[in-house]
Amino acid sequence: MNIILFGPPGAGKGTQAEFIVNRFNVVQLSTGDMLRAAVAQGTELGRKAKAVMDAGELVDDAIILGIIGDRIGEPDCACGFILDGFPRTLPQAEGLDRMLAEKGLGLDAVIEVRVPDSELFARIEKRAAETGGARADDNAETLKKRLEVYHSQTAPVLPYYQEKGMLKTVDGLQAIDAVTAEIMKLLEG
Ligand code: AMP
Repeated sequence: MNIILFGPPGAGKGTQAEFIVNRFNVVQLSTGDMLRAAVAQGTELGRKAKAVMDAGELVDDAIILGIIGDRIGEPDCACGFILDGFPRTLPQAEGLDRMLAEKGLGLDAVIEVRVPDSELFARIEKRAAETGGARADDNAETLKKRLEVYHSQTAPVLPYYQEKGMLKTVDGLQAIDAVTAEIMKLLEG
């Protein structure tokens, strides 16, 4: 099973991805986690990405497609994967389709976890407090920018999948386990 988990920063994509990984034995591919690992390792990619991430902007499509292309080709992805935080632009969505087609793969579902902006500020504040500010981009100012970017560049990807009949939306304002239950029902149904 190959799935996209879609939604704004703080919607709970990472949390829900973990549940899906455990249930369906797929691999979680979070471009944000991969970039943070590159930053922590001080690689060339990490050095390039850090300033962009700290500003709440998007890393270049070609770089992101390169990372995902390499990762999807690894053996552990053969059992399926859940994309968390990717694709974030239309060119990324189109690039993903090309890569999947080349590998004879497809997508089974695109699940949007919908949460209004007003709620996201409270959530990101909570995450920053819980993690001791581990993420440089978890603050109100950067979140404002990340949400602008989400609405201008990422949300336009939704109609792309809607037209393909693949888009399912869940209400991300519910309790975590209620969101999980809804996602499981969609994936099992
Ligand atoms: P996330 O952990 O998904 O919130 O991602 C943190 C940051 O990493 C984002 O604000 C972007 O700067 C960068 N990033 C993660 N995934 C992508 C992507 N698919 N395309 C462009 N930039 C990304």
